[in-house]
Amino acid sequence: MASDLGKVCPGGSGNINADGSGKIYLPDLNICELEEFFTGIGQKKYRAKQVFSWIARGAGSFDEMTDLPLSLREELKLLASVSGLKVRKKLVSAIDGTVKYLFGLDDGNVIESVLMEYIHGYTACVSSQVGCKMGCSFCASTIAGFRRNLTAGEILGQILAIQRDSGVKVNNVVVMGIGEPFDNYDNVVKFLRLANSHDGLNIGYRHMTVSTCGLVPGMLRFADEGFQVNLAISLHASNDRIREKLMPVGRKYRIDKIIEASKIYTEKTNRRIMFEYALIEGVNDSLENAAELAFLLKGLLCLVNLIPVNPVEGISYRHSGRRRIEEFAAILKEKGIETTIRRELGSDINAACGQLRRSEINAEKGAEQANEAKDSASAESNAVSKSECK
Ligand code: SAH
Repeated sequence: MASDLGKVCPGGSGNINADGSGKIYLPDLNICELEEFFTGIGQKKYRAKQVFSWIARGAGSFDEMTDLPLSLREELKLLASVSGLKVRKKLVSAIDGTVKYLFGLDDGNVIESVLMEYIHGYTACVSSQVGCKMGCSFCASTIAGFRRNLTAGEILGQILAIQRDSGVKVNNVVVMGIGEPFDNYDNVVKFLRLANSHDGLNIGYRHMTVSTCGLVPGMLRFADEGFQVNLAISLHASNDRIREKLMPVGRKYRIDKIIEASKIYTEKTNRRIMFEYALIEGVNDSLENAAELAFLLKGLLCLVNLIPVNPVEGISYRHSGRRRIEEFAAILKEKGIETTIRRELGSDINAACGQLRRSEINAEKGAEQANEAKDSASAESNAVSKSECK
């Protein structure tokens, strides 16, 4: 039955076995798929809405779904799962209250999410993949490589787990955590629709932002989804020569094609594009770069968000000083480009993309190496004692 789900439901991907147990992971399903699921096991359709809204309220087990008959709850335990993400680590910024979560998934992988407070409410930054394939030279997410895509329910699950843990209602979502959203297109779009659902989290599309490293086919496809989700593009360079050094994807998709796709996106959605630009000392932060960037973006409905590059252990880039960032911003503004300088939230808790996961992986590796060293030491001492026995 699992493979049939999602065939007739709009937005259904049929990607529903998330936890490797063979059970159906219900947070992956939209209402239509849930209805199919329930009618498939001889239940009434309305059970779908009940379960969907329990999931949206953060229920982590069927036992919490108290308006379902006990017998149904028992049946569901055999067929399906709703288990939430487990908080493996949580860091709270003493400076601004930003919370960084390291979540454990059912298969043992770990991902990161961040909760930030702005004047207009709470924003969750969610991951779309376990690791990343894109290889950007300044990014911690890419260093440990790519493991797998997250399912729609696992992306949603990050918001549910954050709400459950913190007690706040998330009203904005940015898909700017670990991974490249357009490299996991179907699951990300399904997640956006799930999060928007009235019976679910009910987050407006205009309160959602997807950030891409510039996968042009994904951008064009996204423009045709018929929703007004904000698009952010990690540009980080004012010409292809610099960009391809920083971002391998720059060799495949040139800046002029990205700008072309951005124009199409703004025309179709009426949304302003945000270009992210991490300023790296001596690499992309000259005043000529600023003028070149302004020329590229002239006439486009957009905003440039300047980010002082975040230091990542093992990567030697240094961020441009405050003065240079302000000079860079001034040139853009003078040329009519709306520009902001990103507030550095959670700088004391390593809030930049992928850094907590990386430190966890390094810690695990360290422990493994220590164990291996212990094992080989004990193997050696065994060998010694054996040889001594001879
Ligand atoms: N793959 C997507 C989203 C994930 S990264 C993308 O590329 O947009 C989220 C943002 O953080 C991107 O703009 C990325 O370029 C930026 N980023 C990654 N590492 C950074 C660092 N060390 N300093 C500043 N920004 C960084």
